[in-house]
Amino acid sequence: MSVSYRLVGDVGILTVENPPVNALGHAVRAGLLGALGRARDDVTVRALVLHGGAGTFSAGADLHEVIAGTAREAPSAAELESLIEGLAKPVVAAIEGACLGGGLELALACHARIASPGATLGLPEVKLGLIPGSGGTLRLTRLAGPEAALEAITSGAPFTGQRALELGVVDGLAAEPLAAALEAAAALARADAPLRVTSELTARTARVSPELFAAFRAKLAARTRGQIAPLRAVDAIEAATMRPAPEALRLEREYADECRDSAPRRALTHLFFAERAARRVPDLPPGVTPRPIERAAVIGAGTMGGGIAMTFANAGIPVALLELSGEALARGLALVDKNYQASVARGSLDAARAAEARARITGVTDYAALGQADLIVEAVYEDLEVKREVFARLDRVAAPQAILATNTSSLDVDAIAAATARPAQVVGTHFFSPAHVMRLMENVRGRASSPETLATVMALARRLGKVAVLAGNCDGFIGNRMLMYYGAEAEFLLEEGATPAQIDRVIEEFGFAMGPLAVRDLAGNDVGFAIRKRRRLPADERWSPILERLVGAGRLGQKSGRGYYRYEGRRRLPDPEVSALIEAVSRELGITRRDIPDEEILARLLHPLVNEGARLIEEGIAQRSGDVDLVYVYGYGFPAWRGGPMYWGRRAGLQAVVETMRGLSATHGARWRPAALLERVAAGGGGWDNDASAAAGGATADH
Ligand code: NAD
Repeated sequence: MSVSYRLVGDVGILTVENPPVNALGHAVRAGLLGALGRARDDVTVRALVLHGGAGTFSAGADLHEVIAGTAREAPSAAELESLIEGLAKPVVAAIEGACLGGGLELALACHARIASPGATLGLPEVKLGLIPGSGGTLRLTRLAGPEAALEAITSGAPFTGQRALELGVVDGLAAEPLAAALEAAAALARADAPLRVTSELTARTARVSPELFAAFRAKLAARTRGQIAPLRAVDAIEAATMRPAPEALRLEREYADECRDSAPRRALTHLFFAERAARRVPDLPPGVTPRPIERAAVIGAGTMGGGIAMTFANAGIPVALLELSGEALARGLALVDKNYQASVARGSLDAARAAEARARITGVTDYAALGQADLIVEAVYEDLEVKREVFARLDRVAAPQAILATNTSSLDVDAIAAATARPAQVVGTHFFSPAHVMRLMENVRGRASSPETLATVMALARRLGKVAVLAGNCDGFIGNRMLMYYGAEAEFLLEEGATPAQIDRVIEEFGFAMGPLAVRDLAGNDVGFAIRKRRRLPADERWSPILERLVGAGRLGQKSGRGYYRYEGRRRLPDPEVSALIEAVSRELGITRRDIPDEEILARLLHPLVNEGARLIEEGIAQRSGDVDLVYVYGYGFPAWRGGPMYWGRRAGLQAVVETMRGLSATHGARWRPAALLERVAAGGGGWDNDASAAAGGATADH
């Protein structure tokens, strides 16, 4: 049974029972239709309450139905909503847990809503390249006004019951929303006044200036680039404001269909399913359970350590943050405080929650304070000997069961584990900067990492609100190894005739937040060069000397005001000195500079990513192609609406990728040859992924 119906006095209660999240699949909609009809026809029923079983209202439509285009099969959500609005008996929604997407659309159609203060409401459709398609844009606009609707629907960000009350989305808050909704429904029935029909409200849309929408579109354009859904959401909200309800609903449906059939929607749902698939580690023995993490510790309060400590604290886990000296600790904690203030100022955290989280971070300088931690993350300098020393010391003071994790970006996790007597409990947890914001956690399995250790860090990622991908242990793991070839190719393009500004523009127009050379300047060219120096290259390969020369000239990037560009504040400007330096390199290498078309730049930067991704899968470093996509999207700024490099490569045509790689290997050496797996897939010889669990993720590429 997917919807239950019972009577309390003269109020009928409809409960959606479709675990785990009460998705509004076809059976639920049919159940609701039946129950609504029964309540309508029963003369003893004077009012209704709609809620969800197991503590959650509904997390929304069934995504598989949306993708397949069957979500509107009768009875559609839209039909149920107009049935509710037209009912002569009051219907009150009792909201707790998640009330998202189609769930909120249903609740919005009720005559009143009571929520628990901590309930999670929202219309997150844009995150999947969709817009609400069952009256959500109309009803949220009519209830809360276009400004609030624009903000909520184009960001897809969830809001609490408390916030929903402030916005006018719900009518009351209660710790026990079901009981309160029963009372409210009975009171509405007794009052016998005309019922409030959400789609007919006009108070908040009566005097809206059309300029609001033009201004919002302009604001949105910069951050939405090739996406369609956010702009279509604005169109729908404008219609909800300016046009009669039936027309607005018709337009909403049209826009929703357009979004559903679009390439960005396909790419984004690919990532959604890839995220689910990434949680699975096929070779873990069945029944292995994650260890509970009640307390954590972080070693090193630098750029990464502070952010990692915040990540634990934000997830409710008390954390000790250790530094070498009181002074360094004070500096680290000051940075943490500044980051919390910024989160509050940005509105991503409210002041009370920020204060609670900050209170979970305890600064320490004594290793003896770490004995309570269930997990310790090391984030000291990227130096193998320093890390080995730290791990040897941790091994002596940590609880016997504690897991010791390293945030190294590229060092050998096995060599670090060997410094301890517990290599089975050593693992990589590679966070990205800023760690409290970036969603990726690249977990790295050492040779000896136990199944329990791996299960623990994979489960931990979810608790921390991160997307975890499990990588094998190699130089650079998944992300930085791919980055190496992307960055190297950017420099080869400079040698051949491109400029830093052209390369960065092409990549930014593609949808990355920042081009490769601007990123280098941000991270520090000395840092990039130090990493490069550690690598031993095969005899037929070379690095371009450009990076080294920039560092030699003191052009370290933003921090020195000069790098691939010169900087005025954060504004990057082309620098003739850099052009001269690059041209000198071309001359020395005997390269005749030429105009390189944008398309060639794009292909030559992205194709090595696809190729290296294929190599990583082939070597078993990456478990599946979806994992590679997640790493590059959530860790390196690849535009999500393009689905990640492997997904993109498939769409762009793998045969072209193979051709580019052949050309590159002729000049740059065997390392640039197309991966065998890439050649096989390009020739139509199957998919990227071998294991069965990947098939579920991989198959989504073609939805
Ligand atoms: P950082 O230099 O900002 O911070 C390192 C901190 O560790 C310093 O505050 C230092 O005082 C402290 N430290 C050094 N030795 C210590 C010891 N023995 N005990 C306690 N504290 C000690 O460095 P970071 O950028 O935060 O990088 C830390 C690690 O994270 C490195 O392994 C790096 O490769 C990795 N990483 C960095 C980034 C990034 O973007 N910065 C991203 C991912 C991973």
